[in-house]
Amino acid sequence: MAISLHPLLDKGIKPGKKDFAGGTLTCKCATDPVTVTLKGNVAFNHACGCTKCWKPEGAMFSVVAVIPRDNLEVTANAQKLKVVDPSAVIQRYACSQCGVHMYGRIEKKDHPFYGLDFVHVELSKDEGWAAPEFAAFVSSVIEGGGAKPEQMGEVRARLKELGLEPYDCLSPPLMDLIATHTAKQKGVLPA
Ligand SMILES: [Zn+2]
Ligand SMILES: [Zn+2]
Repeated sequence: MAISLHPLLDKGIKPGKKDFAGGTLTCKCATDPVTVTLKGNVAFNHACGCTKCWKPEGAMFSVVAVIPRDNLEVTANAQKLKVVDPSAVIQRYACSQCGVHMYGRIEKKDHPFYGLDFVHVELSKDEGWAAPEFAAFVSSVIEGGGAKPEQMGEVRARLKELGLEPYDCLSPPLMDLIATHTAKQKGVLPA
């Protein structure tokens, strides 16, 4: 049997729908769940091996994407949301009852990803979300306790088999985006 990475990835990846209008994320609370409505599709959906992203119980990776912050609205039970770590760059808003992270937001205006919120579309029953495209921070699953160092060959091979190129930071387009932002701030590139 193939090594398990995440319930959504293990069954193979379903492609997203073009012109998908968006949908609603719902936390795991049986009563009074927090809901977050997303207008339009997400971008840069990927598997993430970092230790900060929310993932379902027992999963080795999270699945996380971004959406412009103006396209995200908390539509029910906002009073249950609490920032997990106020000192973190990404302010992750979690449901204080079930613990699910509903969205992550960057408030630092000079951050390369300012204006984008981080979301987990597996919290939505709607179908058509952009599919995961790559795997980021793969080596970090060792830190998270999800995999032993000697399992990493198997983990990377499985990611590739699923069509998710494994990277130990972000994907090259995202790393280029960060470097371009930094180069502009430093005056290496025209702003
Ligand atoms: Zn909840
Ligand atoms: Zn992560």
